[in-house]
Amino acid sequence: ASPNHPIRATLFPGDGIGPEIANSVKQVFNTAEVPIEWEEHYVGDKVDPRTESFLTWESLESVRRNGVGLKGPMATPIGKGHRSLNLTLRKELGLYANVRPCYSLEGYKTRYDDVNLVTIRENTEGEYSGLEHQVVRGVVESLKVITRQASLRVAEYAFYYAKAHGRQRVSAIHKANIMRKTDGLFLKCCREVAEKYPEINYEEVIIDNCCMMLVKNPALFDVLVMPNLYGDIISDLCAGLVGGLGLTPSCNIGEGGIALAEAVHGSAPDIAGKNLANPTALLLSGVMMLRHLKLHDKADQIHNAIIKTIAEGRYRTADLGGSSTTSEFTKAICDHL
Ligand code: NAD
Repeated sequence: ASPNHPIRATLFPGDGIGPEIANSVKQVFNTAEVPIEWEEHYVGDKVDPRTESFLTWESLESVRRNGVGLKGPMATPIGKGHRSLNLTLRKELGLYANVRPCYSLEGYKTRYDDVNLVTIRENTEGEYSGLEHQVVRGVVESLKVITRQASLRVAEYAFYYAKAHGRQRVSAIHKANIMRKTDGLFLKCCREVAEKYPEINYEEVIIDNCCMMLVKNPALFDVLVMPNLYGDIISDLCAGLVGGLGLTPSCNIGEGGIALAEAVHGSAPDIAGKNLANPTALLLSGVMMLRHLKLHDKADQIHNAIIKTIAEGRYRTADLGGSSTTSEFTKAICDHL
């Protein structure tokens, strides 16, 4: 990639605070002269029959073609006859792993200053299979589906990630003492993959114990891999350890090497349109996307500018106890670049 031959990437500004924080990303990337050309796609106002959702087929094709994208939060309109936007992306693009690094930000004091872990969440099955029904009045069932294929795929990714990022240990999080068959199969798959990576320490931690250990001493963990629901909960817990939703990035890994980075938070309707949102989570998601593209220099540059701005403390958004607007904070980052 070069300024004359930029990489094309899809950008979904999304809803609520999405467009404001996406603007911030565009501004920071421009200032850092990142060789990326955005293909912007918006959520439509009518259902596209080809996707059964407000996301058009063209939007999905854009991600498939580019192989890489950045996504703001999306609020699924309530009503019948369409699929959730996030579910559509996950299913159509086969986004099977959600990777969420959580690390203490230098200069932003929380209860812990030595968190440096990554949660890897299986993203396609488990309790999120959408198979719920009523057996008789007053009795309902929800099916938790665990397959060998999806478990192996996410375990492979977790070990690959650990190795590629110089990490020492992978912990599989489970409740196999109770969910013998489902979590049992998940663990079996993790063990199989672990055998192929003798240089990486492998351990199994029961989810309840994991929660206790995480709040007592998060530095005990390195890479954590887990089924869908545990991943949903544990990854938010970990976000809380380092300062909350305004700070934590994530990246979804899909079939054929697709990477769709996104902030962890939602559309924050309470502060949307007020120039108050913290763009850090989406910016750091953008940094994850740059690393995926091996644009490490640009990633480091932007990462450092964000950290410096937050550490200085002169410009911080309200969620971090400051009084800066989104644009003031963004400008401070650009000045550091
Ligand atoms: P939310 O994350 O939007 O908001 C929770 C709280 O955190 C709010 O007080 C909000 O102001 C604050 N917050 C979130 N991001 C912030 C930021 N960048 N800077 C400062 N403050 C921030 O969660 P919610 O209210 O439960 O959900 C709102 C909508 O977002 C819903 O429609 C939901 O479905 C959607 N949502 C989408 C995604 C996604 O697209 N990945 C994820 C979660 C929720």
